Amino acid sequence: MHDVAIVGAGPVGATLALALAGNDLDVVAIDGRPPGVTLRQDRSLALSWGSRLTLERLGVWTELESVAGAVTPIVEIDVSQAGGFGAATLTAALQSLPALGYVVSYVALQRALDAALARAEVPVRFGTSASRVRGTPAHAEVILADQGEPLRARLAVVADGTGTAVDGIVRERHDYGQVALVGEVFLDPPRRGVAYERFTPDGPVALLPERDHHGLVWTMTPEIAEAMLALPERAFLDGLARHFGTRVTGFAHAVGRRAFPLVLERARPVVTARAAVIGNAAQQLHPVAGQGFNLGLRDAWELAQKILGAPRDAIGGGTMLADYAARRRLDRGAGIAFTHGLVRIFGNDEPLARWSRGFALALLDVVPPAKRAFTRAMLHGMH
Ligand SMILES: Cc1cc2nc3c(=O)[nH]c(=O)nc-3n(C[C@H](O)[C@H](O)[C@H](O)COP(=O)(O)OP(=O)(O)OC[C@H]3O[C@@H](n4cnc5c(N)ncnc54)[C@H](O)[C@@H]3O)c2cc1C
Repeated sequence: MHDVAIVGAGPVGATLALALAGNDLDVVAIDGRPPGVTLRQDRSLALSWGSRLTLERLGVWTELESVAGAVTPIVEIDVSQAGGFGAATLTAALQSLPALGYVVSYVALQRALDAALARAEVPVRFGTSASRVRGTPAHAEVILADQGEPLRARLAVVADGTGTAVDGIVRERHDYGQVALVGEVFLDPPRRGVAYERFTPDGPVALLPERDHHGLVWTMTPEIAEAMLALPERAFLDGLARHFGTRVTGFAHAVGRRAFPLVLERARPVVTARAAVIGNAAQQLHPVAGQGFNLGLRDAWELAQKILGAPRDAIGGGTMLADYAARRRLDRGAGIAFTHGLVRIFGNDEPLARWSRGFALALLDVVPPAKRAFTRAMLHGMH
């Protein structure tokens, strides 16, 4: 029997496997990806400063940073709202840090993690998918889709991005009735390292710096998205420029426009008999605050600490899993509430809401402790 079986060696599952490596534990990971293949070629991840520190500790950051174009530092975040006063500028200098966060290529991160797992000699069975995970009082059983011999472990950790295969865990879903229109936008002149977050009556819109361009995440109704996707490039850019008002100008070029539905999904509970769900399997958030991946990474790190701190025969036991769930409750709840609240408060066009938003943003900009506290929450999460 293994000590830990990890289902899904994506960014979150691989982080957990690496954090457990070299500790005399029998850890195995499986992933449906064929060997050497990375998913999500077009996705970028928003990484907080705290996530960088985690990747540094695991020996992944230096290699990732050395890949040309894989990492773009965010040195300034400009937050504003349409049709109301108040704006805030958060800077890395205020925190005495080289960056507030980073935009990282999913593919480059996955490659760096896969290479680190190979170096640490963590067994990863690629091309192997789980169809079901079930717990018994004594062990967890991971049933494989290819009908191969099931894996048995003291603890099964599901980091498959959906969490659907686990017995005893349900997924709550809130559909925002909106979609995110994403794509790559080129500004002239390019504003390297500056992220823009703009709240409009139709929903939030963000521009995240990536190499020589910005990644766009624009929230809107499916009907408006359909129309925006069909527009010629110039008309699309003009519509975007109107949304940003005077905060951003020089919209020169847009490529790769596409849209996906926005939902909040969360697993309840995140632990069950001999199993835990982490990362996107535990929560999938609206991308507005860039919190999703960072929460997932903290799930992996905290679970690793609980496993490493437990005697071998307590791994996967009720006490260890309850401790882990309790430890994650505040940070996870706050991340979900913060993201969900941002969407609701800033998606509301009541004049009073607009005024209080402006007041909050103005306050954030001029009151250094408030600004530092907000920035710290964005950097490290809410423990
Ligand atoms: C549509 C969409 C867009 C997003 N855009 C952004 C964004 O712009 N910025 C951002 O920061 N975050 C974004 N996110 C969130 C971000 O992608 C996740 O936070 C991150 O990918 C979570 O990593 P993960 O390892 O939990 O899951 P995943 O990245 O989904 O990895 C899951 C891994 O598990 C493997 N797997 C799946 N099923 C099985 C199985 N049954 N058996 C074995 N292996 C399996 C997969 O092959 C994969 O390697 C987005 C999410 C979605 C859904």
